[in-house]
Amino acid sequence: MLASSSRFVVSRITRATALRTFTSTSVLGEQYDVVIIGGGPGGYVAAIKAGQLGLKTACVEMRGRLGGTCLNVGCIPSKALLTSSHHFYDAKEHFKEHGITMSDLAIDISQMQASKNKTVEGLTGGIEYLLKKYGVDYYKGKGSIASTNSVAVAPIDNSAPSTLETKNIVVATGSEVTPLPPVPVDNAVGKIVDSTGALDISTIPKTMAVVGGGVIGLEMGSVWSRLGTEVTVVEYMDRLCPAMDQELTKKFQQSLKKQGIKFQLKTGVTKSVVEADGVTLTTEKQGGGDPKDTKYDIILVATGRRPYTDGLGLEKLGIQTDRIGRIQVDEHFRTAVPNIYAIGDCINGPMLAHKAEEEGIAAVEIIAGHAGHVNYDAIPGVVYTFPEVASVGKTEEELKEAGIKYKKGNFPFSANSRARANATTDGFVKVLADAETDRILGCHIMGPNAGEMIAEAVIAIEYGASSEDLARTCHAHPTLSEAFKEACMDTYDKPIHF
Ligand code: FAD
Ligand code: NAD
Repeated sequence: MLASSSRFVVSRITRATALRTFTSTSVLGEQYDVVIIGGGPGGYVAAIKAGQLGLKTACVEMRGRLGGTCLNVGCIPSKALLTSSHHFYDAKEHFKEHGITMSDLAIDISQMQASKNKTVEGLTGGIEYLLKKYGVDYYKGKGSIASTNSVAVAPIDNSAPSTLETKNIVVATGSEVTPLPPVPVDNAVGKIVDSTGALDISTIPKTMAVVGGGVIGLEMGSVWSRLGTEVTVVEYMDRLCPAMDQELTKKFQQSLKKQGIKFQLKTGVTKSVVEADGVTLTTEKQGGGDPKDTKYDIILVATGRRPYTDGLGLEKLGIQTDRIGRIQVDEHFRTAVPNIYAIGDCINGPMLAHKAEEEGIAAVEIIAGHAGHVNYDAIPGVVYTFPEVASVGKTEEELKEAGIKYKKGNFPFSANSRARANATTDGFVKVLADAETDRILGCHIMGPNAGEMIAEAVIAIEYGASSEDLARTCHAHPTLSEAFKEACMDTYDKPIHF
C-alpha cells in the first residue's frame, strides 16, 4: 500500500511540472495512472476521487459536456421540471386550503424550460471546474480501448485523434434508451419521444400515453399531468415499478390515480402510426382481448435502458458482456483484463446515479491500493413524484421468498403532526426488521420528502441498527421524520400516535 501511494505522489509531482499543451501528435507523451472513459456520475466522480488520491488522471467524454445522462438529460432536468410543475399544481389545487386565492394562474413553458436549462448548464460547468481543481485532464472526444494500456480519443471537434498511455482504464460509458420496436422514438419530430424528448416538450400536450409504468414514466408523466395533460400509463406488468414493495406500489398507484393519471395495467403495445395531428397507439390486454386503437398527441416510451458500450473495442480484448450488454466485472469492478475496470450503468445493478458514484469511488480507491467497497444492500431508490416514494433494503416479497422471518411496522402520515400541519398526509412509512434480531432489513416510504427521509433508513441498514435503536432515538418535533421513528416503534413494540 505504501509503495503504491508513494508512486502516485511521484506521478503527481511529474504532472504538476509537465506542459499540458496537446499537439496533433498521435501519442501523448505522459503516462496516466488512470484514464476514465465517460464523464457521467460514475466517471466524473471517479476522476475527482482519483485526482484527490494523487493519481495522474484523464477523463474522456464525448457529449461535449460533463455530468452524463444524470446532469444533462436525466436526474437533474427531470427534477427541475418536477419542481416547476409541482409549484404550478400546488398553486392551482392546494393553495386555497391555506387561504391563498389567485386569479389568472398560468404557466409559461418556455420560462420553465429556460429555468431547467440554466440549472443544467450551471451544474455541468461546475463539474468541469472540479476536474480542473483536482488536476484531471479532460478530453472532449469519443474514447476507445486501443490496447490494455492505451485509450484512443477521437475529438468531437474532428481534430487529430490522440492516444493516451495509461496504467489503468475505467469504463463508465453509462446507458441508453432500449428501443421498443412497435413505438420507434423520434425526438426531432416530437410525437413519439423518449425521456430526453419528454424533457424538451415546448407546448402542453392535451393527451399523452406513457408506455412503461416505471420510474421515468411516472416522473415524466407526473410533470405533464400536473400541467394539464391527460396522461395514460400503459404498463405490461400487473403493477407499477414492478421491483418495488407491492404494498407501496399499490398505494402509490391509488395516489397517482387521485391526481388524474390513468392506468392500463397488464397491457402491451403492438403498433403506432404517426399522423399529422397525433399518434395512434395500438394496445393489447395480456392474455387476449381485441387490439384497441387510441389516438394521443404524444407517446412517451419509458420501458427501460440498456448499457452503452458501442465502439469501445471490448471484444478484441476478451472483455465479456452479458445477455443485455452489461460488462462483466468481479467484486472489485475488474473486467477480464485486470487493469481495466467498469462501473455505473454499464455494469450490473440498479441504474442509479448514486450507485454509479459509489462504484466510481470504490474502483479508484482499489486502483490506488485502498479498500474500495460498495454495500449493495444499502442503496436507496427514490421516485420523485408527489408524494415521493423511497425504498431501501428488502421488500416484503423478497423476505418471503428468501424464507426470512420478519416483523413489520407501519405508520401513516395522517397521524404525523407535521404532515397534518402541511396538509400533505397521503402516505406511510413501513419498516421491516428481522423477527429474531430486530435488525432493520428494509424500509419503504410514500410521503412528502420520502427521498430525504430514506437517508435515515439507509444509515440504519449500513450500521446494522435494530428498529428499537431507531425507536429510542430522539427525533425533532414536529417533523416528518417522526413517522419513521413511530414506524420503528410499531416494528418492535407499539407506536404512540396511532
Ligand atoms: P451516464 O450518466 O450515462 O454517463 C456516461 C457518459 O459516458 C455519457 O455522458 C456518455 O456521453 C459518455 N460516453 C459513452 N461512451 C463514451 C465513449 N466511448 N467515449 C467517451 N464518452 C463516452 N438516477 C438517480 O439516481 N436519480 C434520479 O433521479 C434519476 N433520474 C433519471 C431521469 C431520467 C430521465 C433518466 C434517463 C435517468 C435518471 N437516472 C436517475 C439514472 C441516472 O441518470 C443514471 O443511473 C446515471 O447517469 C448513470 O451514470 P453513469 O456515469 O454510469 O452513466
Ligand atoms: P424501468 O425499468 O424503471 O421501468 C420500465 C417499465 O416499463 C417497467 O415497469 C416494465 O414492466 C415496463 N415495460 C417494459 N416493456 C414494456 C412494454 N413493451 N409495454 C409496456 N410496459 C413495458 O425503466 P425506466 O423507467 O425507463 O427507467 C430506466 C432507468 O433509469 C431505471 O433503471 C431507473 O432506475 C433509472 N431512473 C431512475 C430515476 C430515479 O431514481 N428517480 C428516475 C428515472 C430513471
